[in-house]
Amino acid sequence: MSVARVLPRPTFRRLAGTRAPATTRVIALANQKGGVAKTTTTLNLGVAFSEHGLRVLCIDLDPQGNLTMSQGMNPDTIERSMFDVLVHRLPIAEVIASREIDVAVASIDLAGADMALSSQIGRERALQRALAPVKDRYDYILIDTPPSLGLLTINAFVAATGVIVPVQTEYLSLRGLVQLENTLQMVRENLNPDVAVMGILATMYDKRLTHSREADEILRESFGPLVYQTRIRKTVRYAEAPVKGHSIMAYEPDGEAAEMYRDLAKEVLGGEKARQHA
Ligand code: ADP
Ligand code: MG
Repeated sequence: MSVARVLPRPTFRRLAGTRAPATTRVIALANQKGGVAKTTTTLNLGVAFSEHGLRVLCIDLDPQGNLTMSQGMNPDTIERSMFDVLVHRLPIAEVIASREIDVAVASIDLAGADMALSSQIGRERALQRALAPVKDRYDYILIDTPPSLGLLTINAFVAATGVIVPVQTEYLSLRGLVQLENTLQMVRENLNPDVAVMGILATMYDKRLTHSREADEILRESFGPLVYQTRIRKTVRYAEAPVKGHSIMAYEPDGEAAEMYRDLAKEVLGGEKARQHA
């Protein structure tokens, strides 16, 4: 395929004591607002999971292809992408590139997927169908969604076992959550009864700013234990890493920025374990 592997796979520290989930967990990273760290979280949480020895696939469902780019590939030169998988039923294995983790790549064609799918029967289940043959190869499948609640994001909700919502710690960012929950409710009623928000992640947190601290407090007052304890602080490192085609773990393995996503990974894995034992 066109997206041949070019980067060597870094050797990760394997962390002891992590067990793979009994069934593959499919997590959609969603928020209809752009620039809240959906893509950054998809990649870095995925790589942090893989440091635990878990098998991870990240799916780029955004026509802008930022996730694809952030692993060093150019969406403009990709011939076959998630568009072909969803619209023409190309096996997903054919658009998976092995990088730090496996990535199912996007290209700008995806911008036309909503329209191309709209006349198809079962259009909301295209991703769920595509995942079935490869699901068993992975412990975690993370889906990066576009900044809208359109058909691509709905496909992610239908395929998902849970949703993580990254939220920028600013007042205005908190407002879209009601609309997101309404869409999820609709998906639960009609297409996937089990999907729910598993956690809300405060991103771009700046503790020096009163505004940021207050937004963080409001988030926690409003959504209680649904909000992860881990806050992802604001740092330019997260913008620098993708330029090099790397996750934050590969870019600066011992830095604070990498540590924050490792903390998040532990928290997500811990929550999952608690739920399995419940
Ligand atoms: P989305 O996918 O929700 O549109 P991105 O993950 O692309 O958001 O993030 C938007 C921009 O903010 C990117 O340039 C990214 O590198 C940067 N960014 C992400 N997380 C942080 C952070 N914690 N601190 C500072 N910049 C960040
Ligand atoms: Mg994005």
